[in-house]
Amino acid sequence: MNRITQCIHGKGTVSEVMKHRGKPGQEVPSRLLAFAGMRRPVVFWNITNRCNLACEHCYSRSGPGISDEGELTTAEALDLIDDLARTGVPLIILSGGEPLARSDIWTLAEHARERGIKTALSTNGTLITAEVATKIRDSGIEYAGISLDGASAETHDRFRNSPGAFEQAVAAFSRCREAGIRTGVRVTLTKDNYGELSPLIDLSLELGASRFCLYWMVPCGRGAGSYFRLQLTCSEVEGALGTLFRKAQEVDPSRMEFLTVDAPQDCIHLIRAMEREGSPDLADARALIMSMKGGCSAGDRVANIDPWGNVYPCQFARSPEFHAGNIRERPFSVLWADDSHPVLRQFREKTTHISGRCRECGYFSLCGGGCRVRAYAGTGDFSAPDPFCFLQ
Ligand code: SF4
Ligand code: SF4
Repeated sequence: MNRITQCIHGKGTVSEVMKHRGKPGQEVPSRLLAFAGMRRPVVFWNITNRCNLACEHCYSRSGPGISDEGELTTAEALDLIDDLARTGVPLIILSGGEPLARSDIWTLAEHARERGIKTALSTNGTLITAEVATKIRDSGIEYAGISLDGASAETHDRFRNSPGAFEQAVAAFSRCREAGIRTGVRVTLTKDNYGELSPLIDLSLELGASRFCLYWMVPCGRGAGSYFRLQLTCSEVEGALGTLFRKAQEVDPSRMEFLTVDAPQDCIHLIRAMEREGSPDLADARALIMSMKGGCSAGDRVANIDPWGNVYPCQFARSPEFHAGNIRERPFSVLWADDSHPVLRQFREKTTHISGRCRECGYFSLCGGGCRVRAYAGTGDFSAPDPFCFLQ
């Protein structure tokens, strides 16, 4: 995750990060968790595989009509939350499928709050009525990340394979705002929508989003099938990052924060731009990025649990090669503490093994070698360079 806003407008962030180092996760403000140097991970928990939409780029294979057979029961899910609390997990992102398709979501969120774990929602927004928005707030969910993959109904609905999805998602922002829930926009940028990046940022501001979170495609789930058709070229990525950074400079940081996800190399684009401009914040930006130990948090400060209790290093690393265990066989607290597990060790020690162009790159110590899922998917070699890097 690249915290663009905190790097550009970062005065004071470095000293704040240092102040919170070593504190229990629950005491660290959410905006600083990425820098806190913890092994207690933020958990992306796909609580169900069911979804009312079936988007082409989905990183799982969710959709309507899918059975919930074998998914964690309510009792198992509550036990898991107790175990995550014992592990010191500071934040659970409730995701799916569509997490609101799971009827016991309120029970799970309330239980997490009772156990001192913050919760956030990752949703397509289409099921957020006024009543649901109230339930989100009352169950203690602090933040809703709502997918918006275009600035127009035409683009978003095509992307989401669902007429009316744009209108429903836009309505979800105002319903959440009225209920007092903080919201953010989540966009996956592809060939189909990158031309709308600038108007989408403007729309996000209008909708009152406090975060703009840009994802790139990762070849996994259903999205693996459309990866090569939808993935952007290096020059398109550079153009999009240029737009994003310019907007991040213009927008008041207390109004909306900009982030990019699943490409640690994005921070290099930012550093190079700040170098060119002779930015006075460059040293602080470098220190912040260094404190993230190479951008990718998979298997270390980030964990993924799927609807059936399988544990993976991150939500995009969900192929059998990256399976780290199942909470039905071994509690998460035990599994995560096992540094000898081959999958977790591979991710935790990734920078030791990375080879080729990334190893020789002058930015390796900041970037850490990009995304291991893309490197593996492209070559079958976990230590290969990330093929999605815009640096030629
Ligand atoms: S492996 Fe890739 S998708 Fe997963 S956390 Fe790292 S950079 Fe992000
Ligand atoms: S070449 Fe590799 S290490 Fe260098 S910026 Fe690109 S992904 Fe990161």
